Amino acid sequence: MKECVYPMKQIIELFRERESFVLAGHNGPDGDAIGSCFGLALALEKMGKKVHVALEPYPQKYNVIPGRHFMYPRLTEDFPVEVFVALDCADLERLGSAKSLFDRAEITVCIDHHETNKGFAQLNYIEPTASSTSEMVFRIIEFLTKPTADIASAIYAGMVSDTGGFRYVVTRKSTMEIAARLMDMGIPFTEIYNELMYKHRFVAGKAMGITMMNAAQSVDGRIVYSYMTRDMLADVGADPSDLDGVVEYLRDTRGALAAVLVYERHAENEVKVSLRSKGPHMGRVATALGGGGHPLAAGATVVGCSIEETMARTMDLIEQEIMVYTMESNPGIINVYKEKGYTSHDVVAILKKVVGKKAGHTGTLDPEAEGVLPVCLGRATKLAHYITSADKTYVAEVVLGVTTDTGDMTGTILSQTDDVTNDQEKIAAVVESFKFENRGEYLQTPPMYSAVKINGKKLYELARKGKTVERPLRPVVIHDIKILDFGESRFTIEVTCSKGTYIRSLCVDIGEALVCGAAMGHLKRIRSGIFSIERAYTLEEIKAAAEDFSLGGLILPVDQVLPYPTALLKPEGLTRASNGNSLPLDLVKINQPLEAGQKCWLKDYGRILGLFRREGNNLRPEVML
Ligand code: 5GP
Ligand code: MN
Repeated sequence: MKECVYPMKQIIELFRERESFVLAGHNGPDGDAIGSCFGLALALEKMGKKVHVALEPYPQKYNVIPGRHFMYPRLTEDFPVEVFVALDCADLERLGSAKSLFDRAEITVCIDHHETNKGFAQLNYIEPTASSTSEMVFRIIEFLTKPTADIASAIYAGMVSDTGGFRYVVTRKSTMEIAARLMDMGIPFTEIYNELMYKHRFVAGKAMGITMMNAAQSVDGRIVYSYMTRDMLADVGADPSDLDGVVEYLRDTRGALAAVLVYERHAENEVKVSLRSKGPHMGRVATALGGGGHPLAAGATVVGCSIEETMARTMDLIEQEIMVYTMESNPGIINVYKEKGYTSHDVVAILKKVVGKKAGHTGTLDPEAEGVLPVCLGRATKLAHYITSADKTYVAEVVLGVTTDTGDMTGTILSQTDDVTNDQEKIAAVVESFKFENRGEYLQTPPMYSAVKINGKKLYELARKGKTVERPLRPVVIHDIKILDFGESRFTIEVTCSKGTYIRSLCVDIGEALVCGAAMGHLKRIRSGIFSIERAYTLEEIKAAAEDFSLGGLILPVDQVLPYPTALLKPEGLTRASNGNSLPLDLVKINQPLEAGQKCWLKDYGRILGLFRREGNNLRPEVML
């Protein structure tokens, strides 16, 4: 939006200053191309400008859009073009025969909402989040003149057309607000809506019938596809424009993620591909075929290939996109580098906002500590428990000769002495003694300032009231501990330990063993399970990635974090599995032997349905995602 303000302003000034305009939409014009052309043409005419519109012939239903007279007389080759405005046109090619007018223009302008538009004119106003080019044109018109009912009708038609009757996700609150204002301008909105959305020729029904007979499903119903040859169309007296709505009908099939209609155009050896989707990126499929469009609606015109060849290529491309889509929609975990000063709860709250999903961390890190804090996003929060149980590695500073009420240097000092040992061998021996291989389980007293609950009360809540209570010892395991370096009455350790280990308590216990007492200085978590500090992202980095639409690259899918075997669901098992019922083993394909009691991911194509466990010859759901 922001970067659009400047070109929009320049375009408005240009429209005010210049006298003669040629407007054009894309070839095979649709309601948005026509609506945006005529809407703008009517506004410029009202301002006293000379206006022509160059559009290819279009289907009869669009006669409901006022402004047809701008197309006549048709412009000749030598017509001098002052300002050329391309509307709803993603690239130069799509201008079709109007391209020669573009080439001869003194000044060129492009107003469009296609994501793939790279800005081919001198002044480009491109806004991919706009519902339609017509909506963008309306925003410009408002700066130029008071819209008449005819202008409003043209814009409304373009908006209805490109939003599928205000149904597609591109329909935003602002779209409806503009539509509401247009309705207030005395337009025949019911007539426009019915004309564009529902009315059809008798032969269109026949053509629809044939495409439905030709329709088939692929990838277990995720793709619904159909085709129409030139001869089949001719048989019922229909033409390609009668196929409007067919591909949407295919898409709306329950269970379908993508739909494709391939049909022969009037021109010899031209095959049109029409793509629709409920998620997988069709814009990329169309681009690979030499066309373009939006993520959920795109198309291409393929020259010199048969319907069969074109269909086969298209299906391959769609299948790839479905794979990408299903994997990207799996829940995942982000490895956050918590900086000092944030509570773990702060981090989660910030992430929720940035990612727009539920979030939950996998084990707190003290506010003054820094380092790895894996955060489960969305449905992955259901798996937090499995991730919390991972081993962790810390780097901590042991400060000798000090004891505090919290066990670290943020607390109130309870005792202090200069009489500290600097016998490195003695210190090393004490540190070593905590290792599992030397001591077995290490029974730890949790600090009073901790989230451990006793009789339903969190210890730190009692501690804040000045209370100290008996705390049962908690068994933890120190897998490894080593001294990294010695300093003045302090030293740094690296500890790998089991879930639930309090490094503060460890420092206190080391201090007691050394008699002089100790508290924890700085603390850094450098690993939590498979998450290491080298690949952790600060909140700043995460925010930047979100703004850049590259957040997906930072999120690790749950099946990579917890690498259990995969059981691939056979289509017959889908209903049982998605209802969370247990599943006979013969309804899945497993990539490695699975013993009784072992866990596995149940996947439907690329999508993870849940974490299951083998019991006898069944898979039982453990966590449904
Ligand atoms: P439809 O399937 O309704 O013809 O087109 C849907 C969208 O796909 C259009 O709004 C347009 O953005 C894009 N599109 C359709 N056909 C073509 C084509 O031949 N070339 C390009 N570049 N885009 C197309
Ligand atoms: Mn459009």
